[in-house]
Amino acid sequence: MGELLADHTTLRLGGPADPFLTHTHPADWPDLAQDVRRHSLTPYALGGGSNTLADDTGYPGPVIRMATRGIAVHALEDALVEVIAQAGEPLGSLVAFTVAGNLSGIEYLGGIPGTAGAAFVQNTGAYGQEIADTVTRLTAYDWHLGQTTILQPADCGFGYRTSIFKSRPSRWTILEIALRLTRSRTAAPVTYRHLADALSVPIGARPPLPDAAQGVLDDRRHRGLSLPGSGPDARQAGSVFLNPPVTPAQAAAVRAAGGPVHRDQSGHLRASAGWLVEQAGFHPGAQVAPGVFCSERRALTLAARDDATAASFTTALQRLAARVLATTGIQLTPEPVQPHHAPDSDPAVPPPAMEFPV
Ligand SMILES: Cc1cc2nc3c(=O)[nH]c(=O)nc-3n(C[C@H](O)[C@H](O)[C@H](O)COP(=O)(O)OP(=O)(O)OC[C@H]3O[C@@H](n4cnc5c(N)ncnc54)[C@H](O)[C@@H]3O)c2cc1C
Repeated sequence: MGELLADHTTLRLGGPADPFLTHTHPADWPDLAQDVRRHSLTPYALGGGSNTLADDTGYPGPVIRMATRGIAVHALEDALVEVIAQAGEPLGSLVAFTVAGNLSGIEYLGGIPGTAGAAFVQNTGAYGQEIADTVTRLTAYDWHLGQTTILQPADCGFGYRTSIFKSRPSRWTILEIALRLTRSRTAAPVTYRHLADALSVPIGARPPLPDAAQGVLDDRRHRGLSLPGSGPDARQAGSVFLNPPVTPAQAAAVRAAGGPVHRDQSGHLRASAGWLVEQAGFHPGAQVAPGVFCSERRALTLAARDDATAASFTTALQRLAARVLATTGIQLTPEPVQPHHAPDSDPAVPPPAMEFPV
């Protein structure tokens, strides 16, 4: 049965999807996959819809909302444990579960909306942690091969806000994730100035795990990085652009103008997209397109209001990117995913470590 994607995305934008299927019980996957394979178009997997900009015309193929829940813990050697979660488990509840259990590794990822499975698509990260830092394996359904596959981290092409799941969206649906975490009462070292200030600790300190997790939630709320339940910024998908890679010359120009530049985990120089957008003349609260405004707290988050459409939101993205390109020569890439049917034809498939039919 069809549903409006606007009812399942945090932007509350998007036309119909038919069929719209909800995957709730892991054991039902083989039947659901068989059902979906009867359609000629590849499916779109939907988690919490917090990084999805769905088209006004909807999605032409099946949409599967991943709603499986469940977390299990297995002891490994010494202080290590393996935490297994279903793909539909909210990332926030997974983080809270691990913090309550004195397990360190994802404590800085609290307050990010969405599901555990989707977090691997753009290698979701914050405050110096990325979800892929702790992953040991992912169980995914391979629509190309028609079977469930275990993918090792090395197969997944993780990088700054990217993975093979993002570059080849039609190929796999993540069903279950496994993380390796460490038993500890203290958090990983604080590496972000904002967080260090919020916790009143120096950079490099290892605060108690619950304090670190709460500090993240407080800092996110304070800086407009949380999803408000109501108000003018309630309909949003977080930051709308990735921090762009820059050449050494561009990095020097950004730094000379007082802007932040950092190296990502692969060593690439990246400028702050938020700073670039503000430098280009967009400020919190500014209207960018019909019904689309920079959020009240930060220009890098766009909020959809009453008469917004996916088309006007896309126009807003184009306007911001065009102005940044014109003023700095730096190209921005949107962060939210725009679902479109993309048949997977890339033959360079990383060899799965293990495969078994559903
Ligand atoms: C207020 C706010 C703050 C945010 N802060 C951050 C942040 O700090 N850091 C950050 O990285 N992101 C942030 N985000 C973006 C977003 O929350 C994350 O990227 C999140 O991991 C997306 O999860 P989701 O379940 O909502 O994804 P969705 O929007 O449902 O899906 C996103 C992508 O993942 C795919 N997908 C979903 N589930 C699966 C699956 N099981 N298997 C395969 N593909 C799947 C979809 O097809 C789509 O391509 C923020 C968003 C908001 C609204």
